[in-house]
Order: sequence, then structure tokens, then C-alpha cells
Amino acid sequence: MSITTPKSFDEITYPFDERPARGKLQAVAPGVYWLAMPMSGSLAYINLYLLEDHDSWWIVDTGLANAETSAVWEEVFTNELGGKPVVGVICTHMHPDHIGQAKDITDRFRCPLYMTQSEYYQARTFANGGGNSRSGWIGERFYTQAGMPKDYLQQLAKMWESRESEGMSMPTMVQGYERLHDGQILRIGDTDWQIIVGSGHSPEHACLYSSALKVLISGDQILPIITSNVSVHPTEPNANPLKNWMDSHDHFLEVIPQDTFVLPAHNLPFFGVRPRLRDLIHHHEDRMLAIEEACVEPQIAKDLLPVLFARKLDSRQMMMALGEAIAHIHLLLHRNRLQRSEDDEGVFHYRSVDPSLSRRAHPDDHEAPDDQPAYV
Ligand SMILES: [Zn+2]
Repeated sequence: MSITTPKSFDEITYPFDERPARGKLQAVAPGVYWLAMPMSGSLAYINLYLLEDHDSWWIVDTGLANAETSAVWEEVFTNELGGKPVVGVICTHMHPDHIGQAKDITDRFRCPLYMTQSEYYQARTFANGGGNSRSGWIGERFYTQAGMPKDYLQQLAKMWESRESEGMSMPTMVQGYERLHDGQILRIGDTDWQIIVGSGHSPEHACLYSSALKVLISGDQILPIITSNVSVHPTEPNANPLKNWMDSHDHFLEVIPQDTFVLPAHNLPFFGVRPRLRDLIHHHEDRMLAIEEACVEPQIAKDLLPVLFARKLDSRQMMMALGEAIAHIHLLLHRNRLQRSEDDEGVFHYRSVDPSLSRRAHPDDHEAPDDQPAYV
């Protein structure tokens, strides 16, 4: 199996035009197979990867916890694995489209689940109904500070109910796991896979990198088209995930060679990891500058949403969008480019304070706002 390597890595190129057919494995590198699983909405599918060991298989990410995904796995187990068992399930991070089937598969083969520590325990907390920080005083305070209306928490509660029926709720988790950590090597078949941890989209996201194959399984840490959601949530109202995200991008730029073939969890496998990382860094810097320009007149978080998103947002999109806006605001606060003050109603107001802004500003030359936040 060989992929034609492009002559130049200065732009993003896609060796495959479309995803593999339902339930079929597509070889993408020696011992590495791509499987697409269905998802609802504009995302359409999640990419999972299977790694062939000498007499067994490993699975990277598992798909949503719903009947359709279980049915596709049945087909794969019956038709595609050549009678060899699965000996390890690796989940890059704790989002439902990645961990949805982890318990079923590990139960079926009695094999371990491999995750980083924060991702595993966060998944278990959510799976056990560990409480919704969006209700109660913590959620109330968070959304008040962002300038949201009083009935916003009720709108959100309705949204969560409907989300459960879409199979996007957190599945039951396996009771034990094997811990992954940054720098660790997993030897699968004759290939060494190095775990590289990124952060920002989720707390301790594991990617798998093989320098021999020049392949990076990137999960949601590096996607070629979608910008992964990077959000502040009520659980940790002063978190700075965009700083983690930008730092991770810097780190990947440093350690991942330009000719690496990237196998992402959404969109198509691609070459051009460095231009993509630079684009993503530029994208967030551009959004932050647009926010600074808007905050020459003090602004509340809710009113900054049109700077980032073009479309009128429903309550769920609003939650994602606010989380992203606040993530950008927090990195600007960290850089001493915004100042925050609280009014008598408990609402935060942000004002640009960096004297070099007038030199850096270019209000007529920004990227167009995204349509809506990505659910990934
Ligand atoms: Zn994710």
C-alpha cells in the first residue's frame, strides 16, 4: 500500500477524494487502516483508525454510542479483521464521538482501554451524571457575567434533553484503563507509535505519531478544514484553553516534520501539517485582534459573538460560541491586551488597553466570521 507523496508540503493536499464505504477498511499506510463512522449533522462522519499487530488489532477512537455505529462495528468485526482479536482500544480524548463504543468493544474482547488520565476521569465523571455545571449558581453566574438573559439556563436545559435523544450524550465508561502519557511509545506490529499530548480542545488529548511511517493520527487536535471548538465552560470559568491550544500548535510545529501524513478524526487525511498549523494560529490571532478592535468601546461577551460568527445562533450554538468567545477573551486578558471590569449586575465588561493596538489594527482586513461554531 502506498500513497503518492506530494512534491510540495506548502499547501494542504488530500490523497483520497472521499471516505471509505460503510463498514470497509481503507489502507492508508502499512498496517494502518481508516474506517469512517456515521455522525448526524454537518459533520457527517468521524474517522477511526485500526492498527494491525502481528496477530491482533488495535482501534483508535470508536464512534458514537448509538445503534447505527454498533451495527457498523458488527460488520467490521465479522468481515474485516480476518478472525484476529482486538487487543487494545485507544481513545484520543473524551468526546462522545470518540469514546461512544469504547465500553462495548473492550467488553467484547476483554481488552484494555488506553487514554490519558484527565481524559479518562473526565469521561467517567460525565458518564456517571457527575452534575451539569450549566445548572445551579455556577452556571447562572457564568452566563450572567457573559451578559446572557435570565432564562438562558432554561433554554440550555431543554437543549440538553434533546441532545440525549440524538445519541450525543456521554456513554457508560469502562471501569478501568491503561494510562497514556506524553512521550510514551506503543509498539504495534513493527511500528513504534509515540504519544504526543495536545490541549485546548480537550484537557489532555493524545495523538499518535510514527516517525518511521511519517504518519500522525491527530484526533481532533489538528483538522484540515474544521476549526475544533476551544471553549471556556462554567466548570472552570477562568480557564485559558486557547493558550493551551496555541502552545500545542507551536509544539506540533516544532516536532512534526513537514512531510507527515495526517490522519484526522474529521474531514479527509491530508498532507500539509505545517501550513495547516500556521493557518490555525493565524485564524485565532486574527479573531483576537478583531475582538481587541471591537473593545475600544467596552463590550460584554455576548455582544462580541457577531465578531466571530456570522449566523444567528440557537441556544446550543450560542453556548459553544460564547465558550469560544470567552476563550479568546481570556488569552487577551492573559496578554494584558484587555481589561475586565464587573458592573452592579455582575456582568463583565472588556476594554482594550494595549497602546500598540492602533498600530496593529486593520479592521477592514479580517477573515470573514465563521458561519457557526463547530461541534467538534
Ligand atoms: Zn473532540
